[in-house]
Amino acid sequence: MTDRKTQLAENLARVEERISAACEAAGRKREDVTLIVVTKTYPASDVRLLHELGIRHVAENRDQDAAPKAAACADLDLTWHFVGQLQTNKVRSVASYAHLVQSIDRLKLVTALSAAAVRTGRELGCLIQVALDAGAGERGERGGVAPDGIEELAGAVAAAPGLRLDGLMTVAPLAGPYAGRERAAFDRLMEFSSSLRAAHPAANMVSAGMSADLEDAVAAGATHVRIGTAVLGDRPRLG
Ligand SMILES: *Cc1c(COP(=O)(O)O)cnc(C)c1O
Repeated sequence: MTDRKTQLAENLARVEERISAACEAAGRKREDVTLIVVTKTYPASDVRLLHELGIRHVAENRDQDAAPKAAACADLDLTWHFVGQLQTNKVRSVASYAHLVQSIDRLKLVTALSAAAVRTGRELGCLIQVALDAGAGERGERGGVAPDGIEELAGAVAAAPGLRLDGLMTVAPLAGPYAGRERAAFDRLMEFSSSLRAAHPAANMVSAGMSADLEDAVAAGATHVRIGTAVLGDRPRLG
């Protein structure tokens, strides 16, 4: 193996151990949690190595980086998740390679994504991004809709041609009442997920947990964790 592949394999093994331990502690089955590797700022060659190491879910947060990377890896059976704040002028590009968009946080985005999905003839999975630190009617600093906006957005996604409502996503807030309380934040997200599933039973994805807080997310009940630095290393810049 190349040095990079060995390094990625070791990092993946450590992350796998953490997820397994967290599942065991929570009395959950390992296969109920999907690892998504966030490859932002890292090259397509890393995505290829990760695929060789068994990874099938990758995530990106900027269309400028993601579009060429997805094109360079189009021969691989990968599921691409888009997890960044999304401008409507990037929607057509994102809809051409992403299988899921986890950052749905406003109606305008639903309309644009629906049109793009229909145009390309693909079905796009959608997660509503919840900003636990946003006040009623507001959006979060890092994207996301305030909790009081979940229901309306979910209804819009469910009714939109070309889109499939898959569940909820959050990023643990750095500020506000949940700052430093990741477990409480993820428990709150699970409550919103329960309400959502009452109306939309198939929307059972709960995407929460990153390198620093994946244990809290698994304990709370997350079905998907999004791990970047713990697998790929520290990013050269904020991304
Ligand atoms: C970068 C990013 C992650 C991964 O964060 P790490 O701390 O590197 O594991 C997860 N989710 C989103 C939305 C991100 O932008």
